[in-house]
Amino acid sequence: MPERPSEPEVRLGYLTGEIMDSESYDKAFLPIGATEYHGPHLPYGTDTITAETIAEAFARELGNAIVLPPIAVGVSHHHLPWKWTLSLRPDTLMLVIKDIAESLLHHGISKLVIVSAHDGNPAPAEAAARILSQERDMKVAIFRGWQGTAARLLASDWEIDGDHAGQSELSVILYAAPETANTEAATAQPIQFTDLPIELIDTFDGTVPLGYSGDATRASAEEGEAVIGALVAHVVPYIRELDARGWKRGTWMSRIES
Ligand SMILES: [Zn+2]
Repeated sequence: MPERPSEPEVRLGYLTGEIMDSESYDKAFLPIGATEYHGPHLPYGTDTITAETIAEAFARELGNAIVLPPIAVGVSHHHLPWKWTLSLRPDTLMLVIKDIAESLLHHGISKLVIVSAHDGNPAPAEAAARILSQERDMKVAIFRGWQGTAARLLASDWEIDGDHAGQSELSVILYAAPETANTEAATAQPIQFTDLPIELIDTFDGTVPLGYSGDATRASAEEGEAVIGALVAHVVPYIRELDARGWKRGTWMSRIES
C-alpha cells in the first residue's frame, strides 16, 4: 500500500534551529484544516491532516519551502450541529493568519502559500491575504478546493467526489494517516449537490442529515497517492514560475506573453 513519505523533513515544528543557518528557504506554506465531525470512519482532523500532507508534498518537491504548523481549527460553523466540532469565527482566523504572517516578515520571509483543505477557510484567508498584500507588500498565494482540482486532473482515470468524508477524503487519509481511519465503518451516502446558482450560508444539517456524504466505500490509498501526486505536478511548476518572475502578477499569467 502506498504511504506518505517522511523524508526530507520540511515541517518547522519537527526541525531544529540549524534551519536558521540555511539560506535555501525563502517561503512558507501554512496548512489550514478543521476539527470537525467526519462520520464514524474518518478522524476529526481529516482536513488538517490533508492540508498538511498537501503542503508537505509541495514543499518537498520545491526544496526551498518550510511547512508551518497547521492551524487545526478552522471556520466550521456549518458543521457545529455535529458533536465535538470546533470552530473559529472568520475574523479570528483572519487575525491568526495575519499574526503568523507578521512573524514571518520579522524573519525576512515575505512569501507565503496558504493551503486550505476545508471550505470554511478560504474566505477569511483571502481577506487576510488582501490586507497583507495591500498593507505589508507581502506575497501571499492561496491553494484551495483540492477535491475539485483533483477531480479535474484525474477524472478520466479516477472517480473522485467532492463530498464531506466521502471517497476522496478517505482516500487521502488512507494514504496519509491510515491508522486514523476505520474503513469497516465506511458507507455510501448520497452525493451533495454543490452546483447551486447562489450559495446560502447556513449550517449543513438541512442538506447532510448524517453529517457526512459521498461514497466512502470506494476509497483507496492508491487514489490518495494519485491525488497528492497530481496536485504536486499541477501546482509546483507554477510556484517555480512565480519564483522565476519575482512573485509579481504579469501578462505571462494570462498567456498574452508566453
Ligand atoms: Zn473534510
